Amino acid sequence: MIAETYPMLNSQERKRRAAQAHSSAETLTSHDIVGVAVTWVDNSGIARVKSVPLAKLEHAAAWGIGATPAFDAFLIDDSIMSGRYAGSPVGDLRLHPDLSRLTLLAAQPGWAWAPADRYTQDGDVHPQCARTLARTMAERLRSKGLEAAMAFEVEWTVGRAGTDAFEPACSGPAYGMTRLVELSDYSRDVLIALAAEGVVVDQFHPEYGAGQLEVSVAAEDPVSAADTSVLVRETIRAVGMSHGLRTSFSPKVLTEGVGNGGHVHVSLRRDGSSVMSGGEGQFGLTDEASSFTAGVLARLPALLAVGCPTTASYLRLIPSHWAGAFVCWGRENREAAVRLVTGAVGSDSWAANVEVKCFDTAANPYLVVAGVLAAGLAGIEEGAELPAPVDVNPASLDETTRARRGIAALPSSLSEAADRFEADPVLTAAFGTELAATIVDVRRAEVALTVDMSPEEVVRLTRWRH
Ligand code: GLU
Ligand code: MG
Repeated sequence: MIAETYPMLNSQERKRRAAQAHSSAETLTSHDIVGVAVTWVDNSGIARVKSVPLAKLEHAAAWGIGATPAFDAFLIDDSIMSGRYAGSPVGDLRLHPDLSRLTLLAAQPGWAWAPADRYTQDGDVHPQCARTLARTMAERLRSKGLEAAMAFEVEWTVGRAGTDAFEPACSGPAYGMTRLVELSDYSRDVLIALAAEGVVVDQFHPEYGAGQLEVSVAAEDPVSAADTSVLVRETIRAVGMSHGLRTSFSPKVLTEGVGNGGHVHVSLRRDGSSVMSGGEGQFGLTDEASSFTAGVLARLPALLAVGCPTTASYLRLIPSHWAGAFVCWGRENREAAVRLVTGAVGSDSWAANVEVKCFDTAANPYLVVAGVLAAGLAGIEEGAELPAPVDVNPASLDETTRARRGIAALPSSLSEAADRFEADPVLTAAFGTELAATIVDVRRAEVALTVDMSPEEVVRLTRWRH
């Protein structure tokens, strides 16, 4: 299923990549770059890295960097599960940096970064490469004449360094200017670093939770949006270190209060024009946008295995915490799992988009991109129709009313989400037998790892992992 359109690494392609690296290396040298960090994100949502000194970049571009396929089986605590298609100590993969995204890391002088695609030693894409899957799904959409633009919001929590406990690095109120004053130099440095890296920041603000902040960025093509999410997070982490701060992207840093969401926005265009507005559907959605959104909504319980990938995710995903714990949609409804953002009157032709709110920052953004696009595509193919929108907090309705209006609660545990994903023929086919099985195996292994833990223990296990 995967890699319908991705180039096989034949000798011509290797030569092209080596030449690209050669010319990039000259620019990197002029910026005193010493090493290039090449990242991929594992199924537990952790960005893993191999790096090469600059002198080896050309070789890495042509021949890749060796990495064990066992990384597919890594759990949140770095233990390695034994799955149906992952976890064996045998075999090797090649990480190929995508140099079109090569970026100087502004908060790590001497370092550049590039995201990796993972190939087999035979030069085929690895069937469990999440980044390639995201690209494949974007291509499938394109083959229907549709371009998706996506963006990940990043929420995070800053604590004081030097402790595994969480001591918020600021004490001002939620959304309070006090927090920006307390963290003025740090916040400035985050904005400077992201701008230097070419990340277009739309907004930066203190969030609701203790020590919580948020950055939202401009929409891009789906794979770039996932890459940006990795870059933004690692940049924030690096800036924090230089200010004596510790950064957490865990869904839940404390058992109490709101968690860190990883909301994802998506909009579609056909022939250069948005299909998110100007249509005959509800709130001006076109049929195509309605069906895409309906497809995502219908598969959200299964998509949670991707978007809410860890036991702590389900401590965050609770009603009345703006996490979108119910399968419903609504215009500007922050308690709906899918929020339609129409923008200010007059801006809908470029601003309208759909936001999936239930996902969190532990998710592998490439898998999120792939899952959302696969579900939306299925919605278009099936001609799916949206249910009635919801314009209240679903938690304020009694259970009978919710049942009558067809508003179901999302899965409340990782194990339920894994079961739903496994039972979804569309998503498992899109992800391919091996990756779909590995996602289920990793989730079930984490369930086994955390089954006897209290919420406090789960939060402690997860707090500094993402
Ligand atoms: N922190 C909330 C979450 O867990 C989201 C707050 C907001 O709507 O931005 O997703
Ligand atoms: Mg937010």
